[in-house]
Amino acid sequence: MARIASDPPAGLFAAKCGHARTARVAAFVVLAFAVPVLAQRGETPPATPPPDDPVNALVARLEFESYKSTVKGLTQFGDRRQGTDRNRAAIDWIEAQLKSCGCPTDRIKYEYQPPANQGRGGAGRGAGRGPDQAQGGGRLRGIRSRTGVNTDPMAQPDEKLRELNTQPSTPGPREMVYCTKVGITHPDEIYIVGAHMDGHGWGEAANDDGSGTALVMELARVFSMRDVETERSIRFALWNNEETGSQAARAYIAQRGPMQGQEDPPGSGRYPEPKWLGMVQHDMMMFDHGMPHADGSTSKEQRPEADVNIEFQASSKMAAESQKLAWLFEAANEKYATDYPAAVGNHMTNTDSGPFQDLIPAISLRENERGAQIGAGWDPQWHQPTDVFATYTDKDFRLGLNAAQTTLGAIAQLTGATVRK
Ligand SMILES: [Zn+2]
Repeated sequence: MARIASDPPAGLFAAKCGHARTARVAAFVVLAFAVPVLAQRGETPPATPPPDDPVNALVARLEFESYKSTVKGLTQFGDRRQGTDRNRAAIDWIEAQLKSCGCPTDRIKYEYQPPANQGRGGAGRGAGRGPDQAQGGGRLRGIRSRTGVNTDPMAQPDEKLRELNTQPSTPGPREMVYCTKVGITHPDEIYIVGAHMDGHGWGEAANDDGSGTALVMELARVFSMRDVETERSIRFALWNNEETGSQAARAYIAQRGPMQGQEDPPGSGRYPEPKWLGMVQHDMMMFDHGMPHADGSTSKEQRPEADVNIEFQASSKMAAESQKLAWLFEAANEKYATDYPAAVGNHMTNTDSGPFQDLIPAISLRENERGAQIGAGWDPQWHQPTDVFATYTDKDFRLGLNAAQTTLGAIAQLTGATVRK
């Protein structure tokens, strides 16, 4: 497996920072004219951003092809399972991309020793829940299909991919990478924008969670552009070990939580760990094809009414603050997302925002509700050999892009982002 690290595909997915942005000026003009007409008819005009809105200018810098190619770039490392060479090579690649975008990086180091029963997914999962109760709360409804983690190599028909995913995970040291946009006027305050870069199941972890990882990397690219300034700081975190119970997120909290808000050295204006204002996780962003059919199959097409699911956890200590953050994201979606709406739910669960939920406002963005929908088999690729780049159509990738537009719009507002003339 060492060949992954020593022999990357030459320049295939090289840094693409600074490439030409696609303008959306034409769409703008049309909307600008449409508003007065609606007003005359006594209808509520849509939440259209004004032409000089800096947030809209930033959202317009997100690019569909760039998002897709970042997902593709991640899949060259197979399922990126934690504790393998392919996982470490993926971390190096992600770090190189972030650096080339001008986002200064750092790493968290921690140890991971798997429990005897291999952790999550072992005995006891779902204990104490009724038959209709979903993980995270909420109620399972309608047709369900089987879920689970594929552990059979032979279930992967692609020989090259099977070989790429062969090296098993070894207990021991682990790392995760993050990069930071430093705020101009409030460098002592920060929003954490995250996704997990590890996966499993003998596929390419394209959707779980290449789709979220690419989203965070795209946001890092846009916010790191030379003419972009923010008042507050933003940390772009690519968690590792999510699939084994969010050990990187827990290590981050344990190591860096106590450092929050401390100026170091004193008088320098530098804050190695600013005070956390919120944590926004992205996990499985692309596939919203609806409930499984009676025969267990799922529709081949993205459903037209697909949406971005924004969840907070009703039972958490920060539920009220997290709910407020969730609705702010919903409003940002209405204003800035081009194709798909958002829905707010209160059962956030099973991802890296969980360890933060009693500490700070924490939400997750996903293709579906994690408990009652993904947990009921709405995503047949979940932890399966079919979670590969080729499975997804442009409509799927576009749902991921809309989640990126939502988070970029919200975080740009929260951090006071402007574009320097
Ligand atoms: Zn995931």
